[in-house]
Amino acid sequence: MRKISMKNPIVEMDGDEMTRILWKLIKDELLLPYVNLKTEYYDLGLKHRDKTSDEVTIEAARATLKHKVAVKCATITPNRDRVSEYGLKHMYKSPNGTIRAILDGTVFREPIVVKGIEPVVRNWTKPITIARHAYGDVYKDSEIRIPNSGTVSMTYTSDETDDVESVKVFHFDGPGVVLGMYNTDESIRKFAKSCFEYAIAKKEDLWFSTKDTISKTYDHRFKDIFNEEYELNYKAAFEKAGIFYFYTLIDDAVARVMKSEGGFIWALKNYDGDVLSDMVSSAFGSLAMMTSVLVSPNGCFEYEAAHGTVQKHYYRHLKGEQTSTNSVATIYAWTGALKKRAELDGNDRLAAFSNLLEEVTKQTIEEGEMTGDLARITSNPKPIVLNSEEFILAIKRRLDDRIEEI
Ligand code: NAP
Ligand code: MG
Repeated sequence: MRKISMKNPIVEMDGDEMTRILWKLIKDELLLPYVNLKTEYYDLGLKHRDKTSDEVTIEAARATLKHKVAVKCATITPNRDRVSEYGLKHMYKSPNGTIRAILDGTVFREPIVVKGIEPVVRNWTKPITIARHAYGDVYKDSEIRIPNSGTVSMTYTSDETDDVESVKVFHFDGPGVVLGMYNTDESIRKFAKSCFEYAIAKKEDLWFSTKDTISKTYDHRFKDIFNEEYELNYKAAFEKAGIFYFYTLIDDAVARVMKSEGGFIWALKNYDGDVLSDMVSSAFGSLAMMTSVLVSPNGCFEYEAAHGTVQKHYYRHLKGEQTSTNSVATIYAWTGALKKRAELDGNDRLAAFSNLLEEVTKQTIEEGEMTGDLARITSNPKPIVLNSEEFILAIKRRLDDRIEEI
C-alpha cells in the first residue's frame, strides 16, 4: 500500500511504565508501517521531566497551543515513593494539571463500547461522554465547624466601588457546620464553550444539568451562561450539525440518562461530574476502555487514555513475567488525535485509516481475542486471553487484511 502522509504534525507526549511499553508497540506495529507519522515529540517520562526540571511538560503544552492536536501517554504523578524511586530533584506536579492550566480546558471521558463487554445498564448501546467542570465549587470551598450558638453571614466587599453586600446564612442555636463556595463567570463560560465545541466536533447532542430551581443564583448562573453561549455563538452550528442542546434539572437528567440509549455528551458541574463520571465509567465496564480528551475553549485537543501507567504490570514486565495489559484506550488516544488532525487538514486517507484501526481493534475483542482484564468481564463464554504484545499483533493481522481499502 501507499503510505499515508500527513500535512501537519501532532504533538506526541511520551510517558511512563507499562503504558510507555505499549506506546512503542502501538507505534511500531500499528502506526509506522502505514503512516508517515509526523509528530513533534516530547518525552514526558519521569526521568526526562526531572532532567528538564519539568520544563518539557510546559513546552509540550505550549506546542499543543501551536499545533492544536496532541496525544499523550499516561505519566507518573510523583509522590514521596516516586521521589525516592527515581531520585527526583522535586516532587513535580501532575503533568495533566500543568497541561490543563496552560490549555485551560475541560476533560471529556468517553467509554469505548464493544460487543461482549456489556454495560451494566442494558439499554446503553452507545457511549455516554461525561464533561466535568474542574474548577471551584466544593473543591475550593471554605468551611467552619460551628462550636456553639451564633450567626453566620456572607459578605462581599467590592474592590472597585463602595458596594458591600451581606446575607445572613443561618443563626445556629447550637453546634453545626457551614461552607462557602464560589465560581467565576469566566471559568463557567470557558467550560460552556469547550462543551459546545466538543459536541460540534463529535456531532453529538449536549446535555447540561444543574439544580437551578433550588440554587436560584448559583446554579442558575451556570444555566444562564450556557444558554447565552448557545444562543449567541453555537446555535447555528448545532442546527447545521443536526444536533441539539438540552438543559434539564439534574434529577430529571439522571432519570433520563438511565433510560437512554447513550450517544450524547453530558456536561456536569464539578461535584456532579466527579461522582457521576465514576458511576458511568464503571457501569460501562473497564477503566482500560475509557478515553479522555482535553478540549480547550479555543479549540485545542489533547487525547489520552483515562487510566494510569499500570505500575503493577510494569513491575511484572521488568521481572520478565508475562503481562496482559489492555492497549485499547491508548490506541484510541492515537486514533482520536489522528482523526482530529485529519479533520483540520482535510486528510481523508488519514481519517479512513484511523477509523479502520478503531474498527479492527473492536473486531479483535468481538471475535474473542482480548486481554485479561476484559476476559474477566466479557459475556463471551470462551475468550482467548492474549498477552500485551499478542493483543496488538492480533489487531495488526486484521488491519493488514483490510489496509488495501484505504
Ligand atoms: P492505573 O495505572 O490506572 O492502574 C490501576 C489498576 O487498574 C491496574 O493495576 C490494573 O489492575 C487496572 N488497569 C488500569 N489500566 C489497565 C490496562 N490498560 N490494562 C489492564 N489493566 C489496567 O492506576 P494506578 O496504579 O493507581 O497508577 C499508576 C500510576 O499512574 C501512578 O503513578 C499515577 O500517578 C499515574 N496515573 C496517571 C494518569 C494519567 O497520566 N492520566 C492517570 C491516573 C494515574 P490489575 O492490577 O488488577 O490488573
Ligand atoms: Mg471521582
